[in-house]
Amino acid sequence: MQDRLFIDGKWEKPRRGGTLDVIDPATEEIIHRAPAATYEDVDRAAKAARIAFDSGPWPKLSGNERAAYLRAIAAKIEEKRHSLARLEVADNGKPLPEALWDIDDAAGCFRYYAGLAEELDTSPEEAIAVGDSRFTSRAVREPLGVVGAITPWNYPLLMVSWKVAPALAAGCTIVLKPSELTPLTALELGVIAEEVGLPAGVLNILTGTGQDAGQPLTEHPLVDKLAFTGSVVTGRKVMMAGAQDIKNVSLELGGKSPFVVFADSDIDKAVEWIMFGIFWNQGQVCSATSRVLVEESIYETVVKRLCEEAAKITIGNGLEDGTLLGPIVSKGQYDKIMGAIDRARQDGATVAAGGGRPAGLNSGYFIEPTVLTDMREDSYVWREEIFGPVVCVKPFGEEADAIRMANDSRFGLAAAVMSADRDRCERVARAFRAGIVWINCSQPTFAEAPWGGYKQSGIGRELGRWGLSNYLETKQITSFDADEPWGWYIKG
Ligand code: NAD
Repeated sequence: MQDRLFIDGKWEKPRRGGTLDVIDPATEEIIHRAPAATYEDVDRAAKAARIAFDSGPWPKLSGNERAAYLRAIAAKIEEKRHSLARLEVADNGKPLPEALWDIDDAAGCFRYYAGLAEELDTSPEEAIAVGDSRFTSRAVREPLGVVGAITPWNYPLLMVSWKVAPALAAGCTIVLKPSELTPLTALELGVIAEEVGLPAGVLNILTGTGQDAGQPLTEHPLVDKLAFTGSVVTGRKVMMAGAQDIKNVSLELGGKSPFVVFADSDIDKAVEWIMFGIFWNQGQVCSATSRVLVEESIYETVVKRLCEEAAKITIGNGLEDGTLLGPIVSKGQYDKIMGAIDRARQDGATVAAGGGRPAGLNSGYFIEPTVLTDMREDSYVWREEIFGPVVCVKPFGEEADAIRMANDSRFGLAAAVMSADRDRCERVARAFRAGIVWINCSQPTFAEAPWGGYKQSGIGRELGRWGLSNYLETKQITSFDADEPWGWYIKG
């Protein structure tokens, strides 16, 4: 495990010598002391990234040349798949098979953006018809500059990859600030960058708190773009800090995503997708479908089945065979989720399943998979992101009611619909005010498809070619090709 920051291709001690306790949420034990960066380190890293962008080779390489680095990083991630996945479990708590899945997706993300970097070589510019034969005009795309990337703890290496891979593919240089709760695999990416010979300063990795490392990064004048994933509260601060220098800002924020289940759905499939939509990764998923709307005629059956199946989920240390639900990432998040469940009870909701600590697990931040019903539409638990294994279920009468309730949120990240009627699914999918819509499923995510939110769930899109555009500037080059004078001053 690394105990230094990765700055300008070297492993450096934090200037002020601070450390972060890294806690295994399954045991509550301190497993490492990671380096804690402060303003001085941010400044060194931002200068290194600036020099690497302004006078280094990286942005001038062809897409093919950059792609070779991205493919080498993907290969290294795959080679270290087991050790990276085990670090992720120790750091975040998630079950090992899910961690392996994340690591494979991270490698896939680097490989996917290697392909898009290569495509930049074959489609470098677009001719623009300007309607005046004396001129030719083209649009070219160029790397945006120095990126300050700030990431959360729920998919530590994967969220890092969603930013670092497209930014590298585009030709940007990066200062990465991963979550202080899960710094381990991000630092390992520094080791990989070194192993594949990434030029110095292209990727700098600073572990540290939001206040001491994140905020100075958002305020640093040498940073051109802020790419942020995290909560709405922090997103707002990032946007305000970016406003000072008019930085380009993209935000991937929270959600309270609805899942509408119609009566013609297969109940077994509906129950499995509802569970996956909220209990996968302990419900710590920005797109988790945490508000389930079930058509009245099957509501009682679905709730009963959901409670029975939720009670069967194996809870435990993510390294144990058969664990489906690990601990919550930290004591702070554990307390927040338990507080939200208590508040739901006080507000009149029924705890139909779970709602407490699992029996027999006396240490670790474990919470039972929890099903809540009978909550009011204006209650905290129905409206606010809980970010844990807590699902709210409500009945609906007509399709129009379901759409109204689904869209009645300040968030608009994801939404899902399940029905045997394809036309209805299409209609409802179009009616959702959300950036990601699933039909007859919830959560499957592909590197090729755009990811991001409407409303307070964010600005911009990650993944796919939209993710690459996040890190590219567009420049027009317009040429006056005629021999005649322009005619404003010298008359022809
Ligand atoms: P958070 O906002 O607390 O922290 C996110 C990152 O911001 C961390 O690295 C943190 O250190 C940093 N930070 C904190 N204060 C800062 C400041 N003032 N300036 C700059 N950086 C600062 O979020 P979290 O608890 O790590 O993650 C959970 C949230 O992330 C949830 O709301 C979830 O929905 C959201 N999320 C969204 C997506 C998406 O794609 N939309 C994906 C994953 C998580």
